[in-house]
Amino acid sequence: MQINLERFRKYLDGFKMYVEMMSETALLDLQANKFFMSQEGYKHSIYNKAQSILDYKNWSTADIGTGSISRKVNLAINASENLVFKQQRIHFKNKINDNPKLAEQVLYNIYCSNKDSESFDEAVNFFGGKYDLIAYLFFIKDDQKYLPISSSNFDKRFALLNIPLKTSRNCSSSNYFAFINCIEQLRKLMEAHYGFNISLLDSHSVIWQLTLADEFVSQMEEKNADALLSNEVNDLIHQKGFQASGYSGKPKKQATPIHTNGHKVYPRNRFAALNALFIANNTCEIESSHKSFIRKNSDVKYMEPHHLVPMAHSDKFSVSLDVEENIICLCSNCHNEIHYGKNAKELIAQLYEKRKDMLKRVGINISLEELLLMY
Ligand SMILES: [Zn+2]
Ligand SMILES: [Zn+2]
Repeated sequence: MQINLERFRKYLDGFKMYVEMMSETALLDLQANKFFMSQEGYKHSIYNKAQSILDYKNWSTADIGTGSISRKVNLAINASENLVFKQQRIHFKNKINDNPKLAEQVLYNIYCSNKDSESFDEAVNFFGGKYDLIAYLFFIKDDQKYLPISSSNFDKRFALLNIPLKTSRNCSSSNYFAFINCIEQLRKLMEAHYGFNISLLDSHSVIWQLTLADEFVSQMEEKNADALLSNEVNDLIHQKGFQASGYSGKPKKQATPIHTNGHKVYPRNRFAALNALFIANNTCEIESSHKSFIRKNSDVKYMEPHHLVPMAHSDKFSVSLDVEENIICLCSNCHNEIHYGKNAKELIAQLYEKRKDMLKRVGINISLEELLLMY
């Protein structure tokens, strides 16, 4: 299987960090982790519930045509929560009503035959290419061998890992078993990376959560880099003789990124940050009346530099984002709000309105919508 291993490991590290932050415990086992289970544990409950409803080990060919098989499967589908879309549940019922006897034969074959590929394709012929539905029917048969699917969402995650598998509108036995095989390969890589056992279903959940965790980590990194920069600026301010100069109004070349543990980091210039604070007169650019304190060893008010277009997105631009035009002077409270607040969008929009023309002048072309997606 082709996969971008470096990126996968980075995502796994990010996921671990994310889960550990949210659960405030070291990640030593997925099913013992309260946060992970609060997010993904419901799939285990659905599985157990559906298994007891189905009770397919006690089915016999004599049940076909009695209605008891489709009744049980229908109940098990009603327990599926978000794993099967509502339209697909309705579709299932309609198909059963159209041809009750054949429906039960198809369902019987899924649960009581060992011919996975044949019974999958039979189900596709009977129910149509309803991927969520048919994958769910298999998943509740045995969660060690089969998985539910949300095809377009998994395709997005596979694309992030450079895996060329497309499941969307591709409902067939060969595609489904390629999907399971792919998650199985990722499961093995995950176990080797983390050093503990992971079930097939939990690997599926980790892949599902990877993009969320990745976003979280890049936000954390951005805030950490800001904090480091604040420290450096603090040291600089103590050295007498700093003269602020205004905005240059000219694009600046990007600095060469530094690679540390597989992460690419663009260095931040502390003079540019300091200059930006002084251009703003060391007052908060959200609201100049915002209070702060006076720094130790100098008479300058404490403020924090913040890159409006986050440095982590430097790759999307041909010019440097580390320019005064893109650096905002914020009080600690507004700075935290912009990174962690519910109201952050409004602050970002307000600052964007103020800076958009200046950004354009230094070659940073970005719409508000694009900017909001970066936070
Ligand atoms: Zn910031
Ligand atoms: Zn403020």
